[in-house]
Amino acid sequence: MAPPSDLTTLADLPRLLAQVAGDSRRLRESPRDRRVGCEVDPAKIRRLLARRYDFTAPMAADALIADVARMLGDWTVDVTHPRYFGHFNPSVRPISVVADTLVALYNPQLAAWSHAPAANEIERHLVAFFAERIGFDPSAAEGHFTSGGQEANHTAVIAALVRRFPELPDRGLRSLPGQPTLYLSEEGHGSFEKIAVATGLGRAALRTIPTDERFRLDPSALQRAIEADRRAGHLPLLVVATAGTTASGAIDPLPELAAIARREELQLHVDAAWGGGALLSRSQRGALAGIEHADTVTWDAHKWLSVPMGAGMVFCRHAGVFERAFASAAGYMPGHRQGTVEPHASSLQWSRRFIGLKVFMALAEAGAEGIERLIDHQTAMGNLLRERLRDADFELMNDTPLPLVCFTHPRLAEPGRVAKRVAQAGKVWLSAVSLPRGGQALRACITSYRTEPSDLDVLVAEVVRELPERD
Ligand SMILES: *Cc1c(COP(=O)(O)O)cnc(C)c1O
Repeated sequence: MAPPSDLTTLADLPRLLAQVAGDSRRLRESPRDRRVGCEVDPAKIRRLLARRYDFTAPMAADALIADVARMLGDWTVDVTHPRYFGHFNPSVRPISVVADTLVALYNPQLAAWSHAPAANEIERHLVAFFAERIGFDPSAAEGHFTSGGQEANHTAVIAALVRRFPELPDRGLRSLPGQPTLYLSEEGHGSFEKIAVATGLGRAALRTIPTDERFRLDPSALQRAIEADRRAGHLPLLVVATAGTTASGAIDPLPELAAIARREELQLHVDAAWGGGALLSRSQRGALAGIEHADTVTWDAHKWLSVPMGAGMVFCRHAGVFERAFASAAGYMPGHRQGTVEPHASSLQWSRRFIGLKVFMALAEAGAEGIERLIDHQTAMGNLLRERLRDADFELMNDTPLPLVCFTHPRLAEPGRVAKRVAQAGKVWLSAVSLPRGGQALRACITSYRTEPSDLDVLVAEVVRELPERD
């Protein structure tokens, strides 16, 4: 085929998008006919890229689309598969794929309110909706979209520093009379290690607190750690509670931690990156009771709300903190409009992508009750999986209302090996996990709203098949 004499234009876009649909096996095939896992030698991918993509000759758009769709299809773990029981990577709802396409097409720049009034007001409207679900007063709280939970947690730590030390944005950490300290459970998210580095607090600021038998942060151990730090002259700053830990879905005891934070005059952050989804279900939101006492909350729409990455959110119960942290008067930015908040001067990002549209369209299409049904379905599948596992003589290792099950079996010695062999067989993807106090288990999270009871049967059968024979 002759190379194109010219580049594709917007007029070609409908045809190109139709070709994306035609070339993508994601759209042509039933998901259950596809492998979930992916095993590939990096050398194979590199050889193809070296051969076809030295970028010397232009490539026709149709050939390029077909090639990329094939690479992504063949060499990606299919996290959108109904039998992907892995990390918090959901199946994405088609309406949110349309949303991301619209975002790319219009390319609104959200950094300055006046450049993207529609997009900025849509995000503001959503932030108020989710803030209310947390139990915050939306008129007194603030929030914004982030790339994900990492950025949301990072923003929350900066907010805690700024609230406690108002001079800090100007004078920096070296002006403080001691070391601010952060408390999270041993099961808390690893992002806080990077945040400790990025904020200049250093990992020495982190206190990892032991968990109880349900892998929840132990409040009395927290109390002791705070007292020890005060005696040592440190500056206890922030309690990080996790609502839905990554390994086992544990929800830290939020009311107790809120009481300690209040009494000790520490701030409280709740990392509900995945577990926040439960707040949209009337029957499940009680599991997160106490979250309304948090000063800040992290909640990722790209975890349990089934939209594509990255769509994190950070909320603060006290409006104005983010502006105090991130204010910047750049002479080249468009003028400010009364009654609006400038995103670039109240968040870590500068240029901002329209992250919220996929959440907006997903929520609007289904309605709040439609989203609730998806959340409740996944929770029901988690409960059913527990039943099926018990019936097959597995032992459950965790205890959470969220749809995440850690399990073992008397004949299961090496969960990591079994998870790998199951993935190689291609019908199911699940992970192995280390739990506190040396526990090793298999871990299955219901991440797809399309998972059905028959998928759970396949999961159990695949694991049973890989168990060593009885001796
Ligand atoms: C996923 C997750 C994060 C990190 O969020 P990203 O969106 O991956 O940046 C932080 N905390 C918890 C509890 C998570 O599950």
